[in-house]
Amino acid sequence: MDCVFCKIVKGQLPSKKVFEDERVYAFEDINPVAPTHVLIVPKKHIVGLQELTEEDACLVGHMFVVAKRIAQERNLKGGYRTVFNVGEDAGQSVFHLHLHLIGGRKMAWPPG
Ligand code: 5GP
Ligand code: ZN
Repeated sequence: MDCVFCKIVKGQLPSKKVFEDERVYAFEDINPVAPTHVLIVPKKHIVGLQELTEEDACLVGHMFVVAKRIAQERNLKGGYRTVFNVGEDAGQSVFHLHLHLIGGRKMAWPPG
């Protein structure tokens, strides 16, 4: 399958690994929008939140636990944001589910 994040998970494309276990892989975003910008992806190919099934509910919960642990490790005491961009209007550009962990600076709300 021609999926950039599947290739990163398999080590066929380089990435800066932050965390890995049997279910997820986390790595530095290539184009960070904040001092911390980590992507947490399931090793299994899921297109996006829209394609999620009840079967994957635990997996997505685990992605958030991993995000929280990375935020703790990075001492993001001031706060951080976790984001799933879903579909074109939200700016999803890679169609393999990924949770953005963004922090290390003040952020505006609502997002643009
Ligand atoms: P989206 O816009 O789909 O929510 O987020 C995709 C993210 O993946 C973007 O923040 C983009 O910078 C990042 N990205 C795209 N291709 C690569 C890549 O090959 N390596 C890494 N590390 N990040 C990537
Ligand atoms: Zn994939």
